[in-house]
Amino acid sequence: MGMENIPVIDSHIHIRGYHDLKNTLAVAQNISEKCSLAGVNVLALSAWDADSAGQNVLCMACKALYPETYAYANFDYFYEGVDKTAMGRLEQLKAFMAMGFDGVKLIETKPSSRKFVGIGLDDESYELCFDYMEKEQIPIIWHVADPEENWDAELCGEYAKEHGWYYGDGTFLSKEELYQETFRVLDRHPGLKVTFAHMLFLTKDIRRAAEVMEKYPNVRLDITPGCELYFNFDADYEGWRNFLLRYQDRIVFGTDNGWGDEPSPAEKVESGSKIIRMLKEYFSTENIVEAWDGKEIKGMNLPKEALERIFAGNFMELQKGKKSKPINLAQAVSYGKNVLERTKGERAIGNDARKQLEELVEMLSAMEGNG
Ligand SMILES: [Zn+2]
Repeated sequence: MGMENIPVIDSHIHIRGYHDLKNTLAVAQNISEKCSLAGVNVLALSAWDADSAGQNVLCMACKALYPETYAYANFDYFYEGVDKTAMGRLEQLKAFMAMGFDGVKLIETKPSSRKFVGIGLDDESYELCFDYMEKEQIPIIWHVADPEENWDAELCGEYAKEHGWYYGDGTFLSKEELYQETFRVLDRHPGLKVTFAHMLFLTKDIRRAAEVMEKYPNVRLDITPGCELYFNFDADYEGWRNFLLRYQDRIVFGTDNGWGDEPSPAEKVESGSKIIRMLKEYFSTENIVEAWDGKEIKGMNLPKEALERIFAGNFMELQKGKKSKPINLAQAVSYGKNVLERTKGERAIGNDARKQLEELVEMLSAMEGNG
C-alpha cells in the first residue's frame, strides 16, 4: 500500500514570521507545489497574543496571492475597540465570511490564549456566532487544551516552558476546565461542524476520545502533530488503528506547517515537506518510520478508502465539495486598514508586527488598485 494517486490536502497550516513577508506568505504554496498537494488551508491565530492582531489580514493576503488557498478566520481581540458584544461578534463573523474566509479557527481555548483572552467561548457573547455557524454549517477548526504534560512541572519540556506553555503555576485553567467550556458549547449546538485540532489532546485516553466521537456525531478530529499524538498512537497501536478505521470519515489530515518566527521561510518549506512525506509513509505503510527526535514509530498501514477520506475527502466534505472562496479584495482592504488604524492606540503591538501590517495593507491596496 502506498499513497500513489491519493490526493492530499493540508487542512492545518499557519503563517507566521515577521522578517520576510513575501516568502512567509509563500510557505504554504511552496510546500503545496513541492509535495503536489491538492489543497492547503491557512488558519489565522489572532487570539494568540497582541502581536498576532494582523493574522486575519495575513491569511487574506495569502488568498489574494494564491487564490486556491483555503483560509479560516479567528476572532479579533488585540486592537482598540473590538466590539465584544454578541451582536458585534456576529457582525465580525459575517464580515469574515463575506471577505472570503472559508471557515473559522478557534485558538481561544489553548490555555495561554485563554488566559490572554480572559473569557471562555461558552460566554454569552459568542452565542449568536455559534448559532450562526451551526445553522450555516460553517466549518470550525478548534484548538482545545494542550498535552497534559504541560500542566506538570516535571514532565513539561523545555521548549514548551520557553514558549510560555507550562500551565502548572496556578494562573491557567486546567485541562478539564477547558474541556468543560467546550462541551458546554457543543451541548448547546450539537450540529456544529467542528474539527478538534491535535486529536483534542485525548490520545492518552482513547476511551474518552471514543466517547466524544459517539456523543457528538458531527465532531471531527485532526491528526495535526503535537508529535506526542503520534507517540501515543504508537503506544497503543492496535487500539488507535482501530479507532482511525472506525472513525475514518471524521479524521482530517493537517501538519501545523508554517508555524513560528524561526527558521527562515525556505527552511520551513524543507522541514514542512519532510513532515508530509513522513506522515504519508506512516499512514500508508507498515514501515518503521523515523518521526521526531530520532524516535521511531510503526506505520499504520491504513487501507486505500481510509487514506482517501483522511488525507482529503473529509476536508472536502466540510467545504461542501467546493473550491476555496474567492476573496473580496475591497472588503479585505477595508478590514486591514481598520485593524492597522486601531493598533495605534494604547494596545500598541510590537514594531515588527506593526511594520508587517503596514506592508500587508499596502500590498492589498495595490492589488485592489490594479484589479
Ligand atoms: Zn495549529
